[in-house]
Amino acid sequence: MKTIRSPLAMLRQSQTWQRANVPIVFVPTMGALHKGHTALIDRARKLAGKQGKVVASIFVNPLQFGPKEDLSRYPRPLKRDLSLCEQHGVDVVFLPKVEVMTPKDASVFIIEELLSKTLCGPSRPGHFQGVCTIVAKLFHIVNPTIAVFGEKDYQQLAIIRRMVRDLNFSIRIVGHPTVREPDGLAMSSRNVYLSREERAEAPLIRKALLEVQRLAKETQSVSKIVATAKKMLSSVPLAQVDYLEVMDAQSLQPIQKLTRPAVCAAAVFFGKTRLIDNILLK
Ligand code: AMP
Repeated sequence: MKTIRSPLAMLRQSQTWQRANVPIVFVPTMGALHKGHTALIDRARKLAGKQGKVVASIFVNPLQFGPKEDLSRYPRPLKRDLSLCEQHGVDVVFLPKVEVMTPKDASVFIIEELLSKTLCGPSRPGHFQGVCTIVAKLFHIVNPTIAVFGEKDYQQLAIIRRMVRDLNFSIRIVGHPTVREPDGLAMSSRNVYLSREERAEAPLIRKALLEVQRLAKETQSVSKIVATAKKMLSSVPLAQVDYLEVMDAQSLQPIQKLTRPAVCAAAVFFGKTRLIDNILLK
């Protein structure tokens, strides 16, 4: 396994592979890898096949953190991350420096105007602009045939799909199911922030979303379903619901009735830690 820090060196490598018709499967991450990330890497390895190359990037993207968010305390266990990448068959880890990825005087950004307005959008102004801008840059540098993203970040995945469509990136986007702890909590690099008490209550997010899925078989009324799930979440003392909403699964716009594929997504604070999860409603 190689590690590459310079975007130019990464670009040269990916162009060499491209010229030789070698498929490149890409997994962008912010590091602090867990079984959710390694499942994406394993999926990438399968998609790449024997001839293909798997590239994982580790880059804590400052553009996607708000001023009051956890950029400086975000975990960065690089040695462990590199060893996990190696164990899971990554060919190249791309580790760009903040200064080269985000020039101080940068004045061009990618703004998605519809899907990013709902769910996490209002609570995290600028977040999806930061995600799209950096992911587009990574796509230009890594030149992937396929890129793999987690369904845990459902809104992010939907926005990336839209960016790829609207800006004609010729990249296939593959969504991978959410990997969970045995008690149902979605794996996240942020779970390490949880106190023991918060960790004990956090699986309630999943339970509330499963209840939403069950109710969706009984009623089409989104307001009824949302009210029940929010009540469940408010029953635990440490949970503070940021949002719990049911949206059209593709456009991420609000719906009143469950007449087409929908997604229920939630963001819940446990102390300062904001956890997200979602469930599809067919
Ligand atoms: P992050 O390092 O949080 O930016 O995540 C990098 C990629 O891993 C994104 O595509 C995430 O959606 C994905 N991911 C994070 N947690 C999980 C999980 N529990 N299951 C599946 N994918 C995940």
